[in-house]
Amino acid sequence: MKINKNYLNLSDNYLFSEIAARVKKYSAENPDKRIIRLGIGDVTKPIAEPVLDALTQSVNEMGKAETFRGYAPDKGYEFLRNAISESDYRSRGCDIEPDEIFVSDGAKSDCGNIQEIFDKENTVAVTDPVYPVYADTNIMAGRKIIYMPCTAENGFVPELPGERADIIYLCFPNNPTGAVITKAELQNFVDYARKNDSVIIYDAAYEAYITEPNIPHSIYECEGAKEVAIELHSFSKNAGFTGLRLGYAVVPKALVREGVSLNKLWARRHATKYNGAPYIIQRAGEAVYSPEGAAAVKKQVREYMENARFIRDSLAGMNYRVYGGVNAPYIWLKTPEGLTSWELFDLLLNKANVVGTPGSGFGKCGEGYFRLTAFGDPTDTKEAMERIRRL
Ligand SMILES: *Cc1c(COP(=O)(O)O)cnc(C)c1O
Repeated sequence: MKINKNYLNLSDNYLFSEIAARVKKYSAENPDKRIIRLGIGDVTKPIAEPVLDALTQSVNEMGKAETFRGYAPDKGYEFLRNAISESDYRSRGCDIEPDEIFVSDGAKSDCGNIQEIFDKENTVAVTDPVYPVYADTNIMAGRKIIYMPCTAENGFVPELPGERADIIYLCFPNNPTGAVITKAELQNFVDYARKNDSVIIYDAAYEAYITEPNIPHSIYECEGAKEVAIELHSFSKNAGFTGLRLGYAVVPKALVREGVSLNKLWARRHATKYNGAPYIIQRAGEAVYSPEGAAAVKKQVREYMENARFIRDSLAGMNYRVYGGVNAPYIWLKTPEGLTSWELFDLLLNKANVVGTPGSGFGKCGEGYFRLTAFGDPTDTKEAMERIRRL
């Protein structure tokens, strides 16, 4: 028996465990101090009422023989795929059909699983800094990875890969930088992929946070994208489903490589290894698209973005250089006076009792940056900014 030695090439999941360890140590030594956490990327608002109503109703259906549901259809219930196709795509002029949509238990699983339909010999391009799942899952598979630097100079939107990339992961609005990509910049990547026969995996988990006009909500707004792109969506950040678990992948029928439909390959993989998101969660997901549900989740997103604006304005007023926070719930700030990311972490923890995330934990290019999130309680967020002001 041999283990998969690619796993030994992973760096330890050092970031969040190290943060937890430092916070725990500080709290133990300073039990009277109240710590405000603006570090984690988890939502805090409860499930919106219209969505909760749909969930409760479907739970009750499960308790009656006439309305009980067992295994869900492979790709997800039609009621949900129709709602997604209509609201997330057709209403935006993107012609994505329900049978190009695969409902899942979330975008993280899809990010990791999708590469199973690709050969091990493909080279994978990811941004630096990066959402670790894209890189780590490909390291586990033993693929070669190239990094595309995202810096203040390029507005945190990478240049096209310098060497040939077969698979390109992009995430906009971005976690951790909060940056967005313009349609013209995204079109460049689509054109690159068309020319090089590459596939783009486009993570649109934060699409609902876009506030400015003319920012693409979907890669399929770009010409020819259906022939080169897979798009991933999550209900986690727009509707608070981090605990309920729901997402979807779009694999267009026009996406064909070596004469094989990737839609068919992914359908085969999905049917073989996955038995579907729970009926009750899919009903809750459907409610996110009802007029009342859509209004309620929009309101939550707006409230989070109020925090983002407050953090951004406060820090800018203290002469921090701040990025993001306009079309994303993340504020990416430059550390002051040559402090490393971890030095700023320690300073904020010890002197302001505020916890954020060191940018260096997301990649080399994240060194000298720091991430704060807008998912906190509004009062705590204001208090955190006041404490930083007093430093
Ligand atoms: C939070 C997040 C996701 C969502 O993951 P789920 O598994 O759907 O909860 C996906 N991509 C990025 C970049 C994220 O930050």
